[in-house]
Amino acid sequence: MKMTELAYMDDCYAKELDATVTAAEGNNLELDRTIFCPQAGGVECDKGTMGCGETAYNVVFVKKDKGRVLHQLEMPGLKLGDRVHLSLDWDRRYLLMRYHTSAHLISGIFAKDLGAKITGNSLTTEKGRIDFDLESFDRALIEQCFDKARELIKKDLPIDIYSLPRSDVESKPEMVKLAMGLPPNIKVLRIVDIKGFDAQPDGGCHVKSLGEVGEIKFLSADNKGKSNRRVYYRLR
Ligand SMILES: [Zn+2]
Repeated sequence: MKMTELAYMDDCYAKELDATVTAAEGNNLELDRTIFCPQAGGVECDKGTMGCGETAYNVVFVKKDKGRVLHQLEMPGLKLGDRVHLSLDWDRRYLLMRYHTSAHLISGIFAKDLGAKITGNSLTTEKGRIDFDLESFDRALIEQCFDKARELIKKDLPIDIYSLPRSDVESKPEMVKLAMGLPPNIKVLRIVDIKGFDAQPDGGCHVKSLGEVGEIKFLSADNKGKSNRRVYYRLR
């Protein structure tokens, strides 16, 4: 079957879209195209509604399953071939976009300034958590990283999203790290580029300039063993 077109990758600001149901199993639907970003990479999924005729079905969870995007609805009723109108819960999505971009920013600073290896993250509408591997645990250094993040947000660096053929990336020494660790079947890389700061391959949704991230509040830092650190923060 044809893969779902991931419209959110081309336009992170699209709030509505018409689509067709291409598979339906109970409450779980696949579409020919979607603006709902599935739960992935530690970022919570989008929510919203799928309208058909007079009925609006709540989209309560979206996940990727072996390359398919499954939209879980609150109730059954839609079937193969139905035309649907997708509407995002935009407040939720926009906040998740701000969190996702902020996590790239903060992780980038931890990596560059502290030499920390990022081991994971969890981004919800409530708070962000970044896990990293670092021997020393100095709260003042972490505070400094957050200060630097605020400076860069103030500079309002633009964020570009573009595609590059893997062969191009691998032939340029300054970019080859972008392809490292990616499965060999990925031939085109989608790059999220915070201009002048950090570029990474990424499949998620981001704001278009750092100023949109807004105010960051550092909440706490936990020591989870020898070199395992966790940092929590909140956006306002
Ligand atoms: Zn990301």
